Amino acid sequence: MEKRLKIRRIYWYCLDMSDSSKKFVSDALRELSDKLKQPPTEVAIMTEELPDKHAEKVSQLLCGSENISCTAASISYIIVNGLELLPGLMVYCREDSTIAQEVRKANPKALWGGQVDGLAVVCELNNKMAIWHEVLHLLGADDCYDSQTEKGTCEKAPGCIMQYAATEESVADWPECLCARTTKQLRDYARRQFSS
Ligand SMILES: [Zn+2]
Ligand SMILES: [Zn+2]
Repeated sequence: MEKRLKIRRIYWYCLDMSDSSKKFVSDALRELSDKLKQPPTEVAIMTEELPDKHAEKVSQLLCGSENISCTAASISYIIVNGLELLPGLMVYCREDSTIAQEVRKANPKALWGGQVDGLAVVCELNNKMAIWHEVLHLLGADDCYDSQTEKGTCEKAPGCIMQYAATEESVADWPECLCARTTKQLRDYARRQFSS
């Protein structure tokens, strides 16, 4: 049987943000998806602003979150909608928002954001690398820093994007910013996107 590509859809949502923030996020994600579809990763994602029909309910869940896993599950339930693959959602928000506090509760070391069960939260504003880092988590990439010792950089590649607190200054150009392990994890993800 011919193999069929399943594209991962990743919604993004700006919680109480200006139009310029929306453009920043949209541009960052378009650039990331263009890069991801080329070698060495060849991961296909489609990024899209969360449709209006879901936004109000999702916003309520984000602002009233008391447990990030429950919030992630509730959001998945709302946005899954007969899609072949569970879509992910990246939320861009201020660090004092409820959902940013919840993601830190789940992972106290993650000051700039985090990812739980398909819900990625970025609360470090105007940092494209923070957006890319969290979206790569949605695609199976793990952190390359040691959360016990807080050793911030990737052992294999100092410019790896999966380092702690990634910035444009500390991250190498694409694809050098993908260490061997991260590349493998994304390639494994790409392989899983094909189903017979
Ligand atoms: Zn991370
Ligand atoms: Zn790495």
